[in-house]
Amino acid sequence: MRPRTRPRTGLLALAVTAALLASACSRDTGGHPADGAGPLTQDAKPAVAGGPAAAPARALARTAQHQQHVHAQRLAAARTWGLSATPLLPPAPPRTKPALTTEPGFETETGGPGLPPVITRVPTDDRVVFLTIDDGYRKDPELLRMLRELDVPVSAFLADGVARDDYAYFRALRDLGTTVNNHTLHHPNLRELPYAAQREEICGQQRVLKREMGTAPRIFRPPYGNYNGDTLRAAKECGIDVVPLWQQEAFPGRWTYSRGDTAFHPGDIVLTHFEGPSEFGGTMTDVLRTVLRKANDEGFAVARLEDYV
Ligand SMILES: [Zn+2]
Repeated sequence: MRPRTRPRTGLLALAVTAALLASACSRDTGGHPADGAGPLTQDAKPAVAGGPAAAPARALARTAQHQQHVHAQRLAAARTWGLSATPLLPPAPPRTKPALTTEPGFETETGGPGLPPVITRVPTDDRVVFLTIDDGYRKDPELLRMLRELDVPVSAFLADGVARDDYAYFRALRDLGTTVNNHTLHHPNLRELPYAAQREEICGQQRVLKREMGTAPRIFRPPYGNYNGDTLRAAKECGIDVVPLWQQEAFPGRWTYSRGDTAFHPGDIVLTHFEGPSEFGGTMTDVLRTVLRKANDEGFAVARLEDYV
């Protein structure tokens, strides 16, 4: 379970406190306090000083200590990944997902009502952005380690042609709490294909992902962001609910922007790719560092796209 409280202040104090508490926390089994069992059960026994009446207070204190220790661990991890602060944590996911409609400028003349909406951002006032990673060519284990240590959610969009040699990597990514979405079988320019071929590209990858991941996704992104009405009709038939494109594209140490300004806006969708030094001049962890620095500098958290769409 991801902690949902955004740590705004006091990280240095937390680090010092947690260092003092390290020996106490080192007895923890790793269970999160919210799990109910684990560290707190030891405190449930009536103990020496204070008697049974003091047990609830001690349990609360242990919970606070544990949370401080978790924050300190995150800060230490952030520093090892070249960040000066921990990535901001997103707020709790919305109870009701925002209503989505195709954004102005993204309608197609052959589209129509009832088709999956095409979006480049999520309509929300939360200071969150969404990191989406496409294709699946590079399977960098260091990216998994960085995502795990920093507890950052991403969404993958896989094309079978480049992902298929190691779906186990993407199952490991999924196990970190993300979802794996559809990016076609062979990454074609769908606008150049007739309806039946488009449908096979999308439905075919739905079948592959169901086989490899256990569930077929609800989210689809057309390669190159190219689509037409046939694409949306085929996507709907294949079980797709939403077609997210992007507002910014992140590379190692640099960005491209599709909007007039370069700032993050609430709900922006950020694109990057499963690539590496020979493709874009750096590693996946360099890209993630680039994204997290900008997010922290501008007061944004990276949230989970599937919590909002
Ligand atoms: Zn792609």
